[in-house]
Amino acid sequence: MAFDGDYAMLIGGERVRGSAALDVVNPATEQVIAQVPDCTREELDRAVAAARAAVPGWAATPIAERKAKLNALGDAVLARLDDFKRLVTSEQGKPHEEAAGEVMGAGYWLKGAAALDLPVTVNEDSDERYSETRHVPLGVVGAIAPWNFPMILAMFKVGPALLAGNTMVLKPSPFTPLSTLRFAELAAEILPPGVLNVVTGGDRLGPWMTSHPGFDKISFTGSTATGKRVMQSAAPTLKRVTLELGGNDAAIVMPDVDVEKVAEELFWAAFRNNGQICIATKRMYVHEDVYEPLRDALVAYARTVKVGDGSEQGTQIGPINNKPQYDRVLDLIQDAKDKGYQFLVGGEKADVPGYFIPVTIIDNPPEDARIVQEEQFGPVLPLLKFGDFDEVVKRANATDYGLGGSVWGEDEDKALELAQKIASGTVWVNETQHLSPMAAFGGMKQSGVGVEGGVEGLLEYTNAQTIVRRKKVLA
Ligand code: NAD
Repeated sequence: MAFDGDYAMLIGGERVRGSAALDVVNPATEQVIAQVPDCTREELDRAVAAARAAVPGWAATPIAERKAKLNALGDAVLARLDDFKRLVTSEQGKPHEEAAGEVMGAGYWLKGAAALDLPVTVNEDSDERYSETRHVPLGVVGAIAPWNFPMILAMFKVGPALLAGNTMVLKPSPFTPLSTLRFAELAAEILPPGVLNVVTGGDRLGPWMTSHPGFDKISFTGSTATGKRVMQSAAPTLKRVTLELGGNDAAIVMPDVDVEKVAEELFWAAFRNNGQICIATKRMYVHEDVYEPLRDALVAYARTVKVGDGSEQGTQIGPINNKPQYDRVLDLIQDAKDKGYQFLVGGEKADVPGYFIPVTIIDNPPEDARIVQEEQFGPVLPLLKFGDFDEVVKRANATDYGLGGSVWGEDEDKALELAQKIASGTVWVNETQHLSPMAAFGGMKQSGVGVEGGVEGLLEYTNAQTIVRRKKVLA
């Protein structure tokens, strides 16, 4: 497999170059770096048909063999870590080191998912009957991934969907299709034809998938607005959906925190991957006793951080991934300026090519500010002051989002007590963003429907089937 410019879709085990092409841009330079196929409706139909044809064979493959293939796929990704790393940086923008972390995570996620098992529940084993519930594949899964973590978020879906015996059609974001297409080349060498198909395309392709009668399930990761459209479009054929959507995570910093110890970690909770993480800290509530020292420590650290092209040595934060998101973050900054909020650092647009925005921290804006209420998904953090614990929990929960959140403090019991009051799918104490293929991850409220990860996530790729066998014929 060569990591050069020849990108093709994978349909029924064949490379399909397609009839039209989409440009892929390096966000650090705004240069077109590759073209990928723009899938037609007919090509999507072929991908769905290929996946459908592969269902009986794959579903009947012993689970031990499916696990072995997923392990092989994970190993194949890990063996090409360096090539994938460069590709992810060039299409997504993140620094090499973070890209390497993502690729490694992607490989291990496949292997981690392969370690899960499908449970069988014995409901009754009496003289009369034997009843058990097992979990059978749904059929064909349509997987739609976003641009912030193009590889690992696709693997969140590939691992459990295939382990459970489904086949798939996977669509990466049009902003970051390259690493997924290279992954498809590895899959073509390891999986039977049709088990995993990869299609790329523009704005028409997602809706074609979600409304296509050939899919049994849509597994979607992206924004809450799109998630609602996905659910609506999946309804007429009652496709199963898993929706992993947006968030507006609060970090709550307790008065007993050791400022020197946590400042750097809190900084990265908000700014890792340029803030483009669904579970990035998007609002930081700091107790008034430590507000000023933490504010100063965050600002001092922010001034040391190097923003630049992710392929350059020493870069810690890359560009925003794409122009629409860049414009959206700039709009939020402009709104904060118009309202007269205090900028502690940043706030100015960098006058260089590439979608660069400097690290920006805003000093205690009002609770109803757009930068507090909306998901910024960029390097702009509102720092908010609180005094009362009940009040801060109320503020943290006063949102339609409910994805993640964190509480930071030396007194772990106190921090845990507060953490349990946060209405979100995952809450961390004294850390954040730690996910595992063994643990369920998902959103409450409008941050999602269903979960990924863990046995709970695996079961979302199955139908529960109860088999009841009578042992005695009635007299
Ligand atoms: P997005 O909703 O714009 O796009 C996500 C994917 O959906 C892309 O592949 C896109 O092409 C496709 N799409 C767009 N319109 C569609 C439609 N009408 N029907 C079907 N598919 C469609 O999201 P994005 O901007 O790529 O990603 C950023 C968002 O994703 C943020 O809100 C972030 O919080 C969220 N996110 C959530 C998680 C999670 O696990 N909860 C993880 C990462 C990102």
